[in-house]
Amino acid sequence: MVNEKELALINRYALRELTGGEVFVFSVVLCDNEIDRDNERFDISALHTLAKLFLGKSGIFDHSPKAENQTARIFACEVISDDTRMTAAGEAYHALKARAYMLRSEKNAALIAEIEAGIKKEVSVGCAVSEVRCSVCGKNQREGACGHRKGVQADGKRCCHILCKPTDAYEWSFVAVPSQQGAGVSKAYMAQEGGSTMEHILKKLGMEALSGSEVLTLKEYIQRLEKEASCGRAYKSGLEKEVLRLAFAAYPKANCELIKAAVERMELDELREFKRLFDTDEKNFLAGVPQLAKGADTAGRSNTEFKI
Ligand SMILES: [Zn+2]
Repeated sequence: MVNEKELALINRYALRELTGGEVFVFSVVLCDNEIDRDNERFDISALHTLAKLFLGKSGIFDHSPKAENQTARIFACEVISDDTRMTAAGEAYHALKARAYMLRSEKNAALIAEIEAGIKKEVSVGCAVSEVRCSVCGKNQREGACGHRKGVQADGKRCCHILCKPTDAYEWSFVAVPSQQGAGVSKAYMAQEGGSTMEHILKKLGMEALSGSEVLTLKEYIQRLEKEASCGRAYKSGLEKEVLRLAFAAYPKANCELIKAAVERMELDELREFKRLFDTDEKNFLAGVPQLAKGADTAGRSNTEFKI
C-alpha cells in the first residue's frame, strides 16, 4: 500500500484525486554513472539534474509513444549513492532512482504482476544533454571530435564519453530483455543544439509544453527558415522576371497583363519548365544564318529569318 506522503505527491500529477487502493507504486533505477555498453556514462551532476527533469514523466513500453502505452508516471526522483561500490571510472556508484505509479486497471494488470514478481525489465531513458565530454582529454564532442575513440585505450585509460548538463528528459521505457542478458540501464540521448532535436520539438508542439531551451531552439530554427525563405523568394522572383522577358520575346503581341498574372501564379517547377522551353525557343529564334555566309545553305529560308 502507498503511504499518505507518496499519495499526496502522486495526486499532484493525477487528473482526479486518487486513493491508495487505486494505484500501484514501484521503484525503478533510470540511469547511473557506470560506463555502459556504448562506452558512455553520465556524470554525477547530470544525474542530479535528471532527477528534477524526470519528475512527472511518463513511462512507456519499448519507446512507443502512443498514449495507450503510457502506463506509469514518475512522481519522485532521487540520486542514491553506494560508497562501497566503485565504477569503472573510479567514482563511487551513483544512480538515479525514481518512484513511479500506475493505475491498478485491467490493462495494467499483467505488467503489475510482472513487476511484483520481479521479472527483469530493462529501463531505457530518453534525454537531451548539452555536453558530451571525452574522458581522456575532456573535449566537448559537440564542438568537434578529438583524436580519442570510445572504448579504446589512450594514455593508459580507456576512453569513454561523459554525458553532462542534461537539458531535457523526454521519456523512460520498459524494454523486456532476455534474462541471460541481465537487467541493465540503457539510454538514448540527443546532443543537438539546445538539447532537443527539432523533430522531437515539432512532435511535442500542440501536445505538451515546450521547455525554455526548446523554445529557444525553435526560435532559432524559425529565424533560419525565414532567412532561407527570403533567399527562396528572391530566386523565384528572379525566375519570374526571366520567364516574363522570354515570354514577351517569344510572343511580342501577347497580352502583357495576362501573361504576368499567369507567371505570378506559377510554382517553382512550372517556372523552371517554361524557362527551359523559352530558352530553347530563344536559341532557335536567334540562330539565324548570315545572309552572305560563304557556302551557307540558304535555300528554302525566308528573309524574315535574318535578325539584326
Ligand atoms: Zn579526447
